[in-house]
Amino acid sequence: MKLLTCRFQGKEIVAVLTPDERHMIPLSDLGYQYETMNDLIRQSSPLVLQEIRRTALQWPAAVELQEVQLMAPIPHPVRDIVCMGLNYRAHADEMSAALKERPTERIWPIFFGKAVDYCRGTGEDIPSHSDFISTLDYECELGAILWKDARKVPPEKVSEYIFGYTILNDITGRELSRHKQNYFMKSLDGSCPLGPWIVTADEISYPPQLAIRLSVNGEPRQNGNTRDMIFDITQIVSELSRGMTLPAGTIIATGSPTGIGFGMDPPVFLKDGDVVTCEIEGIGVLVNTVRDI
Ligand code: MG
Repeated sequence: MKLLTCRFQGKEIVAVLTPDERHMIPLSDLGYQYETMNDLIRQSSPLVLQEIRRTALQWPAAVELQEVQLMAPIPHPVRDIVCMGLNYRAHADEMSAALKERPTERIWPIFFGKAVDYCRGTGEDIPSHSDFISTLDYECELGAILWKDARKVPPEKVSEYIFGYTILNDITGRELSRHKQNYFMKSLDGSCPLGPWIVTADEISYPPQLAIRLSVNGEPRQNGNTRDMIFDITQIVSELSRGMTLPAGTIIATGSPTGIGFGMDPPVFLKDGDVVTCEIEGIGVLVNTVRDI
């Protein structure tokens, strides 16, 4: 089942996407009063999701997606995005080459946080920040969303903690990585496009093995598969939750495959008018345009 957030009749609502992917049904029409996706995540059980799916399939009235404004499925995450650095071998190698450093062994996961003003949905613009940087870059990533508060979760239980998956574009201001700091370079306003919706975890085999692609103005740049993560979702959640509670609704950006603009020779960065299209098999397509705004 695909769940979305949109603006409809002047209000932000949570809705179910119909199987044709061209219509949506507000959850409130089905009798579910969740104000936000985070409420749904926190308060729903597998049984409730089954009921929503069953009711939605028989529901006679649906609204055309064209009549609503899609938003990020979670516009306001419950906490900073949990990000993985250099979590695909080929991407780690391209970063080493771009930085003229020797490739290092990836023995330990690299975790960092990405602060978010609010997540942009598909169709929304990405600010270029061209008034102070010239190295805006993209990273297409699988976003995994936690269903329950995760604390000391053993590896064999991690899959039960996943509510669903979405696409996340980890927009990055490369030149702000002074002294290898991630926080500022990853946390620019508008740097977390998310969407177009959430696919519930029951629809994707675990661990996810999904084709992941990104193009700029139709030119293919990234083309990988989520099976190639160095540290998978099980390792990420079991390791972090040993020492910190990850609340329900936490979004984990699981890392970027190779093919970033910084890794090209010469490097090519995003500019006003560029259309960035992220696609993950079984989830959908997230499209955003970079703008000098
Ligand atoms: Mg990233």
